[in-house]
Amino acid sequence: MEISLERTAELLSNNSNIVITAHVHPDGDSLGSMLALDKCLSSMGKNVQLILDDAVPDMYDFLPGTCKIIKPNSQKIKADLLVVLDASDIERIGHVRAAVDAPVLNIDHHISNTKFADYLFLDSDAAATGEILFKLFKHMNTTIDPDIATSLYTAIATDCGFFRYANTSSNTMRYCAELIDFGAKPNLISEALEARPLAAITNLSKMLDTLELFFDGKVAAITVLPEMLTDNDNTEGVINYPRIIEGVEIAIMFKFVEDGICRISLRSARVDVSQLALSFGGGGHARAAGCTVSGTVAEVKEKVIGAVIEHLQADYYG
Ligand code: AMP
Ligand code: MN
Ligand code: MN
Repeated sequence: MEISLERTAELLSNNSNIVITAHVHPDGDSLGSMLALDKCLSSMGKNVQLILDDAVPDMYDFLPGTCKIIKPNSQKIKADLLVVLDASDIERIGHVRAAVDAPVLNIDHHISNTKFADYLFLDSDAAATGEILFKLFKHMNTTIDPDIATSLYTAIATDCGFFRYANTSSNTMRYCAELIDFGAKPNLISEALEARPLAAITNLSKMLDTLELFFDGKVAAITVLPEMLTDNDNTEGVINYPRIIEGVEIAIMFKFVEDGICRISLRSARVDVSQLALSFGGGGHARAAGCTVSGTVAEVKEKVIGAVIEHLQADYYG
């Protein structure tokens, strides 16, 4: 059932034992949103647990409260509410659904949302789930301390490419300006997110070597193989290299995390790629979407590049 922001605030206020989760392969928006909502609800005296079916990448260690995030285990948790943040599909939260016995409130901004939750607050115009939460916190009269400000600024800024992508609105900038007044430090957040171990930079040159262009240079792909990944398999930002090449309309990153499993990122300058990702069981936004596809390197690439080219052909030639 889709609900209003007011009803979302009521649901959170009227329940005491709350579990918060977000999508696997966490990013700045999912983690920042989890941590900000935890602070808000904990300050209201609620019992809040943060459960995520994935590891938190080292680059997000600077976010206040990450140590509270635990993985689901075999013990079933009974709660009043399971809040699912920044996830468009129940599959995206992994084993958390089975581990928690509670009605689900989904707060999300993906246009591809499958409306799986008992209660859904969806705003696909919001640049980030963090943007929705900031609006919600204003409505709930939450005190925004520097920790909440840091988490929300990170959530919003990372999902709009630091105010460069098409989802950046005047609200996006206004909210972030307010968050700076509440104590977020843009330079420190950017520095923490940009810092990379040396191996990540030397691996980047190997990734760039795999660059291929298709369909008259309108499609660019980078292929990341398991041996190009270090323990901390961070490829944040790598998709930007094929994306920024002149003439490229759709950029693809194939990331083979283990043999036979490929996580795919799609970025588009113009056409909608969310439906394309959905057709492979994934989802996302019009200009940034993703999916996971199984098969050999050759099979996955052929299937996905074929579908991307067909998608562009249909746009050009109808
Ligand atoms: P990424 O390329 O991982 O940065 O993801 C781009 C957008 O697509 C984000 O909004 C993700 O939440 C979404 N996305 C990525 N992978 C999937 C997936 N397997 N299923 C649904 N949505 C996805
Ligand atoms: Mn996300
Ligand atoms: Mn998001």
